[in-house]
Amino acid sequence: MSTSAQKLYEGKAKIVYATEKEQEYLTYFKDDATAFNAQKKGTIVGKGEINCTVSSALLKWLESKGIPTHFIDQPSSREMLVKAVKIIPLEVVVRNIAAGSLCKQTGLNQGEKLPFPLVEFYLKNDELGDPLLTCDRLSILNIIPSEQIEQLKQYALQINQHLQEFFQSCQITLVDFKLEFGFDSENNIILADEISPDTCRLWDELEQDKQKRVLDKDRFRQDLGKIESAYQEVQQRVLTQIEKLKNS
Ligand code: 5GP
Repeated sequence: MSTSAQKLYEGKAKIVYATEKEQEYLTYFKDDATAFNAQKKGTIVGKGEINCTVSSALLKWLESKGIPTHFIDQPSSREMLVKAVKIIPLEVVVRNIAAGSLCKQTGLNQGEKLPFPLVEFYLKNDELGDPLLTCDRLSILNIIPSEQIEQLKQYALQINQHLQEFFQSCQITLVDFKLEFGFDSENNIILADEISPDTCRLWDELEQDKQKRVLDKDRFRQDLGKIESAYQEVQQRVLTQIEKLKNS
């Protein structure tokens, strides 16, 4: 990345730079880690490289399955070249198994399989703590029309099916994950942001122990230790599986 590149936005885990092309941005993945709306802060050594590499591989693979994404290229280990999008200020969470805030808010037991994939919308607003939205709140906020909310839900469900299948082949259970979408230059909705151990809950199917099986950011959130090796394990399994699929 050129030092003169114009920084457009710096978030908790990534920096977005302008490029010579108006319709392309360069995202730089940092090692910084935050949780609980940035009340907990730290560094996960090598996280930026792993999240950039895992996200690039998964976004490229989803693209091959017909899901439109912002991914263009991974020019270096921590950099992803993406289509410039206007981010929709919604976090779209898909859950297959009860964990995290769903358990806290509903009393469902952690690890309980849900009867169907649950798609939830949260307002992407740090000051408000990313609140969960109801259908009517979504409609009153009028961030995007209801038909586009339905389109987000359908994309989220399709992505869940693809990712569940993919992670299963890596012997990893996809518990839940968060997606972000944006509008490209032609106003199409495309998948943006990242898909990584920062944004997914991933449990190792080869491990029965409830703490040892955690391969994602919950290791940081819950101070479980061995965060770097868990992220490395995800990267290794994802890349091995992508290679296998390429050669099959
Ligand atoms: P929960 O609502 O249980 O905290 O999170 C559900 C899923 O979405 C988890 O996989 C979690 O990692 C992801 N997620 C939700 N909000 C955020 C966020 O603001 N940042 C990141 N990195 N992941 C999130």
